Amino acid sequence: MIYTVIKAIFIAFAVGIRNIFKKRMTLRYPEEKLEIDSGYTFDYKTDTGSPGFKGRHILYTDKCTGCSLCAIACENIADCIDMVRVEGNWPINERSIMPQIDYGRCVFCGFCVDACPFDCLFMTPEYELSVTDKRKLVHTPFQLAVFPEKKGTVKLVPGKRGAHHD
Ligand code: SF4
Ligand code: SF4
Repeated sequence: MIYTVIKAIFIAFAVGIRNIFKKRMTLRYPEEKLEIDSGYTFDYKTDTGSPGFKGRHILYTDKCTGCSLCAIACENIADCIDMVRVEGNWPINERSIMPQIDYGRCVFCGFCVDACPFDCLFMTPEYELSVTDKRKLVHTPFQLAVFPEKKGTVKLVPGKRGAHHD
């Protein structure tokens, strides 16, 4: 019995000492942030998706036709896209409707991106979406049209899991 306890303590110390010399994989968020280069895109011509990060969407309002295919794709998943009217002159969008996304319900599956046949809805590396008022989780087309700021201090090391510090 006493032998088993001593052995367990020794193993616990050995594991701890071994890991002291390993590089840390976790980040001190929010002081440290992961630098992510690209978001998820889909090429409808070749029917292939890119391996990018699935964060907040980017909407190219000048290319959106208001076809609603993104909203239809989302209907049976999270039903979080509403087609809303937008002010302005949109030559290829007769009804002036564009997607508005509720991030309180979005599951970041990317199906809406796959469904867009006009190359105007993609995903970005923006993952900081928390707010204190859940109504602010509803992003209007104009909010979706803004490119997120590039953030991040820690890069991923190719071939390794997680974030590694230099
Ligand atoms: S990524 Fe979000 S908005 Fe797009 S289909 Fe999935 S749940 Fe809907
Ligand atoms: S984002 Fe794409 S799929 Fe959605 S309404 Fe605009 S053109 Fe259609």
